[in-house]
Amino acid sequence: MAAVNAAHARQDGAEFRLLSGIEVDILENGELDQAPDMLERLDVVVASVHSKLRSDRRTMTDRMLSGIRDPHTNVLGHCTGRLLQGSRGTRPESEFDAERVFAACAEAGVAVEINSRPERQDPPDNLMRLALDAGCLFSIDSDAHAPGQLDFLQYGAERAERNGVPAERIITTWPLGRLQEWLESGC
Ligand SMILES: [Zn+2]
Repeated sequence: MAAVNAAHARQDGAEFRLLSGIEVDILENGELDQAPDMLERLDVVVASVHSKLRSDRRTMTDRMLSGIRDPHTNVLGHCTGRLLQGSRGTRPESEFDAERVFAACAEAGVAVEINSRPERQDPPDNLMRLALDAGCLFSIDSDAHAPGQLDFLQYGAERAERNGVPAERIITTWPLGRLQEWLESGC
């Protein structure tokens, strides 16, 4: 990482910085699935639910709140877990108390991911607007699993614009210094 940053130091004085990050699972007990000392060494931590997506509303809400309140979490990933299309088939939205979840995100300074993958488009429009009204920040993520998929970002940006999310609320539009300050402050 340091070598990449050094190799791309720009002649014009503008700073280049590749941030290190990870998407971790929010386990059934609400803990993150990586050790705290490892998470502390990274710049960005996205926490998401990947299992037992059909849990009852209360169980899922408690699990998500616990992941959001973990001091290492910066972004809540694909909050509903829905799948709209694609080789993995379709999957309905998980049930959870979205008002409590987004209030917790706003309070803990955790950004709500706008997941740009065409099969996810998560959160759905109604929840994106709810998170906006709750005062949440957002992070437009490609969720890329291959280099060509980095271009998915434009789909997320289009959805953010369509739902009235201003650039000011989207951490991935911020200048490097502001983003780093926010990541370091944890809120
Ligand atoms: Zn994920």
